[in-house]
Amino acid sequence: MKSLLYVSVLLIFGACTHESGHARGELEVQEIEETATIPQIVLVDRIEEVQATLAYADGVDGSEDKVVSKCLSCQLHMNGDHHYAVHVEGYEVQLCSDSCQKAFSDDPAGITLAIASNAPVENEETVVQ
Ligand SMILES: [Zn+2]
Repeated sequence: MKSLLYVSVLLIFGACTHESGHARGELEVQEIEETATIPQIVLVDRIEEVQATLAYADGVDGSEDKVVSKCLSCQLHMNGDHHYAVHVEGYEVQLCSDSCQKAFSDDPAGITLAIASNAPVENEETVVQ
């Protein structure tokens, strides 16, 4: 009688670990798919200025984690969404909407540097003046 109980407990335990392992596997696949859908933007000019501004924008949310969580197209006034993110210069830039993502993709340097004018960015530009 005792050994039968032991076997059934073992079976339940075994079923549980199998199920959670399966769920974890599904989650990993989802994450990979999500990362793959984030468009990569390659800058062609003003790269150093954009990098400096991205570094500033990264810190605006209180943590320098290479994720800009405020919408650059909205001059950091709106919260960005991972769903509308793009990758640029090693940063994940989270825009707030489809149209903001499009606007940023069309002119990443222009949009990023538009916030530099009202941001205290310390770069070569300030030194030269
Ligand atoms: Zn926006």
